[in-house]
Amino acid sequence: MMRIGYGWDSHAFQPGVPLKIGGIAFDHPAGLAGHSDGDVLLHAITDALLGAVAAGDIGSFFPPGDPRWKDADSAVFLRTALEEIRHAGYRIANVDTTLVLAEPKIAPVAEKLRERVAELLSIDPGAVGIKAKTPEGLDQDDVAVAHAIVLLEKIDEDTLLEQMAAVAEPQVKMDDVVRKLVGRTASVPRRKPGFNTDDIS
Ligand code: MG
Repeated sequence: MMRIGYGWDSHAFQPGVPLKIGGIAFDHPAGLAGHSDGDVLLHAITDALLGAVAAGDIGSFFPPGDPRWKDADSAVFLRTALEEIRHAGYRIANVDTTLVLAEPKIAPVAEKLRERVAELLSIDPGAVGIKAKTPEGLDQDDVAVAHAIVLLEKIDEDTLLEQMAAVAEPQVKMDDVVRKLVGRTASVPRRKPGFNTDDIS
């Protein structure tokens, strides 16, 4: 069984703010303004992952304005989304993304971005698409936009247990194994965030 997810995000450029896209710091005079680190690409991928398992959106888990997420590393959001898809019994087949921004040019760092995003998602770089376009005719040179789409595939029980055995934290491993086994016959109560379409910006 497969699931598909789509995510989209935008952030405005602001002079003097550090620029971070796809988990990589760019040497650029302006960065993306946001409550967190403004990583537009990781936010779009996070929403795509959450959407694929119908788990809400980034604002449901990390409410805008919450001081805990001030200047937060967006890799934290991504990790939460990965936990959600794992708990739902899925893994990533592939991810494809498109960035829309005037500057900086993405082509020179596209390969580095691909490797970093793959590392954050714990998947092969060959399963990550990074594309970029300039906002021709949109009059949006002061904004960065990211689109992301993900395909998930169901993990069979044996593979899931093997993966759990490889997890470093024994307690987390046991919790996940128990949750999965119990889940065969009954649903386990989990924190279900209220739906909130506000972005963490
Ligand atoms: Mg955002």
